[in-house]
Order: sequence, then structure tokens, then C-alpha cells
Amino acid sequence: MPDERESKTSEATRAQGTAPNDDSAKPVDLKVKLAEQKLIVDWTDGRHSEYSLAMLRRHCLCAQCRTEREAQKNNPLTVLKTDPAGVRVTSASLVGSYAIAFQWSDGHDTGIYDFRYLRSLDDSA
Ligand SMILES: [Zn+2]
Repeated sequence: MPDERESKTSEATRAQGTAPNDDSAKPVDLKVKLAEQKLIVDWTDGRHSEYSLAMLRRHCLCAQCRTEREAQKNNPLTVLKTDPAGVRVTSASLVGSYAIAFQWSDGHDTGIYDFRYLRSLDDSA
């Protein structure tokens, strides 16, 4: 039935059109408040997000932090090298046009938070 096939195609096209795309997760404005240790992001779709920098540190995706987290998952004994509450962001910088990087008071600076990841952290909060 040619009619049936046609309607299926248009349905698929509609579904694609409403799917979230990369453009929905772009910051218009990024503020790092060092005194409050907070990141504040305003997104292109009007959403306003506030992140505690300590929370972002716990979600750091760099190889070192991932390895540490994996090791903790597999070992009931947790030895924390740094006190997460005592670690502070000392400065921040943009990485290209897609991510933000933080420099931490314990010397850690390899973590990069791309904007889509940041957005997903907010949505899950
Ligand atoms: Zn890290």
C-alpha cells in the first residue's frame, strides 16, 4: 500500500525534527563565582543552571579521576587523597567553544567539562 508507506515516512521525519540536538545545550552566559565556589550557566533555551564546583569535581571525567573512582567502586576501603570539601577552584577557562576547564587548589587541572556533559549533570540533578 503506497499510502501507508508515505505516512510512515512523514512520521519518521517529524520524530527527527523534535529530537533534541546539539544546539539545545549551548551556554549564553557562564559565570564562575570563586567566593561561593559555584558555576552559573544560562542556556540558549532559557534554562538557568547552578552547579556547586565540589559536585563538578566529583563528576570529573579525566583519566585520573575516573581511575580513582573505578578503584573505589571495586574496593570497600576508601582512601581519599584529598578532602573534596577542602579543594577549591582557583580559576577557570574556556576550552575552544565547547567546554570549560577548572584549575583546582590541589593542582588538578586535567578535567574538562564539555557543555553537553554540564547540561546532562543539571538535568539529572
Ligand atoms: Zn579529574
